[in-house]
Amino acid sequence: MAIKIKSDAIWLDGKLTPFEDSKVHVLTHTLHYGVAVFEGIRAYRSAEGRPAVFRLKEHIRRLFDSAHIYMMEMPFTPEQLEQACIDTLRANKLAEGYIRPLAFYGAGSLGVGAVNPVQVAVAVWPWGAYLSEEGLKRGIRAKISSYARMHVNVQMVRSKCSGQYVNSFLANREAALGGFEEAILLDTDGYPSEGSGENLFIVKNGVLQTPPLSSAILEGITRDSVLRIARDLGIPIKEEKFTRDSLYLADEAFMTGTAAEVTPVREVDHRTIGKGEAGPMTKKLQAAYFAAVKGAEPRYLEWLSPYQV
Ligand code: PMP
Repeated sequence: MAIKIKSDAIWLDGKLTPFEDSKVHVLTHTLHYGVAVFEGIRAYRSAEGRPAVFRLKEHIRRLFDSAHIYMMEMPFTPEQLEQACIDTLRANKLAEGYIRPLAFYGAGSLGVGAVNPVQVAVAVWPWGAYLSEEGLKRGIRAKISSYARMHVNVQMVRSKCSGQYVNSFLANREAALGGFEEAILLDTDGYPSEGSGENLFIVKNGVLQTPPLSSAILEGITRDSVLRIARDLGIPIKEEKFTRDSLYLADEAFMTGTAAEVTPVREVDHRTIGKGEAGPMTKKLQAAYFAAVKGAEPRYLEWLSPYQV
């Protein structure tokens, strides 16, 4: 769900800057050619009211991995950017919300291969359930996209690069205009890979299954958290591709993402999945995930970076 964004301050190139002044030139290289790397991170308030960022280190690690793939020299260290996330949350007095670090090539030269100075921004804003509260509870309706997920040698699927999101944009708009909440993209071999901004899971006969990291998916941090939680709960796991029709025949399906959290899928291509509601394993994993992000599960406290507003 898209929302209008306004905040007090954005961290830009090392300084907290008023929202209105956080601007770039129209000849910003990235605006033309799409080479920026970014992250989506969430902070949650615990039941006791203490705020913490969920898996901050892993997200900043992935930001640097994305930059490495694109040979983008980051002008800050991972520690500086972790601190920038916390500082921006504090500057906006946000005890819960979404964090968007973005590193991009600024203005100067143009031409596809021009390498301009790298600029870095961190914005934060309050963001509720990405696929709606209703979707989180009851599940969403999804459609297999007419657009395929990029082949692993067409785009660098392991990176969160802005330009790659034109693929997601096409799929997401097509699904929304068709009356669905999200798209599911097949890979170029025809196997379900992921949503426009989420990883995909199915449950069949008590086994949890998700496409493997060797396929054309983003290595989702929520995917990793859910797999770890499932393992700790003793749930059998298969990281293997599955066919489109095994998605139709699944007992349960759900999507994971920092924005989407753990969202049940109740229908795909007009076929009801299981009972057409959030299934029992989905509910169990969703509850455990929310407990983890909110600091209610001691064994996952290592995933939290607490801060004060
Ligand atoms: N796939 C894509 C294409 C995404 O954009 C995202 C969101 N970052 C995900 C999967 C889920 O990743 P994560 O759980 O790290 O947010």
